[in-house]
Amino acid sequence: MDEFGIISRYFAPLAGDGAFGLKDDAALLPARAGHDLVVTTDAISEGVDFFAFDPPEMIAQKALRVNLSDLAAKGAEPVHYLLNLSLPRNVTPDWLAAFADGLARDQKTFGISLLGGDTGATDGHLSVAVTAFGFVPHGKIVTRGGAREGDAVYVTGSIGDSGGGLAIFKGEQHVLNDADRHHLIAHYRLPQPPVAFATRLRAIAHASVDISDGLIADLGHVASVSGVRITVEGESVPLSAPLRALWGNDTLLRAVTCGDDYQIAFTAPPGLEGPFTRIGRVERGEGVHLLIRGEEHYVAKSGYKHF
Ligand code: ADP
Ligand code: MG
Repeated sequence: MDEFGIISRYFAPLAGDGAFGLKDDAALLPARAGHDLVVTTDAISEGVDFFAFDPPEMIAQKALRVNLSDLAAKGAEPVHYLLNLSLPRNVTPDWLAAFADGLARDQKTFGISLLGGDTGATDGHLSVAVTAFGFVPHGKIVTRGGAREGDAVYVTGSIGDSGGGLAIFKGEQHVLNDADRHHLIAHYRLPQPPVAFATRLRAIAHASVDISDGLIADLGHVASVSGVRITVEGESVPLSAPLRALWGNDTLLRAVTCGDDYQIAFTAPPGLEGPFTRIGRVERGEGVHLLIRGEEHYVAKSGYKHF
């Protein structure tokens, strides 16, 4: 299998309009009238974001989804992506076929297609980098910078499940039942970004961020870019029953700092209802403050840091 064999066999079938069948130097990305193009990129690496023994379909889907959550957090609808692969030299046809099948599944689920990429071999670990493109109606992108005093803070989904899955792989099993263990591992392997929520988000949100490094850390970016203080009411943070079964009394503090959630935290007027949970408020001041039973709790490490 050479590079071009891999591209034509496994990736050309995934190519979208404008990709010239992955046989040209570059691709065309047709503009959409009245819209802005939103672009984001994220890479995942073996040993950091997934394990070599994870199902290849899910590695592919995770690489896509960690990008789709960024687009969703900006209120954008995903359309295309680029794929940059560093493949270990001993990669097998079965592995590649399963990997491409994962991409194909998520292309269908999310209505996206492949525009191009780069393929190389490495003596090191597998890494998968995706650059994703989406459209948002002109001027409607939701940034981290728009939070206002008086806003409420909301999150989609539940927080910490993926971190719980990772903790299980690292040896924390305790007395979890099979269903709880599977729930947490599934969230680690396969993020569930709220892609369809983007439309509603851009209608209501003043500021928004994708939760990837940890709820507290990522809300910290909103607070600093917006120039506000964010208070999180610990009791309101949505935590799943399986996660509570794993982490007990530590659940809240670990969940809000573990990261890998790929959900959306946003600020918007108070009193809204929808597929999200109100977890706090925006005030004058700075930083993120976690209240537990009304008392401020000092958070030493607010999220995942690579360095
Ligand atoms: P270049 O010589 O410019 O580096 P390549 O030979 O790497 O171009 O790529 C040839 C074509 O195959 C291009 O259209 C490129 O976008 C596509 N391609 C290469 N690797 C991938 C990949 N992993 N996924 C999708 N398309 C790819
Ligand atoms: Mg190339």
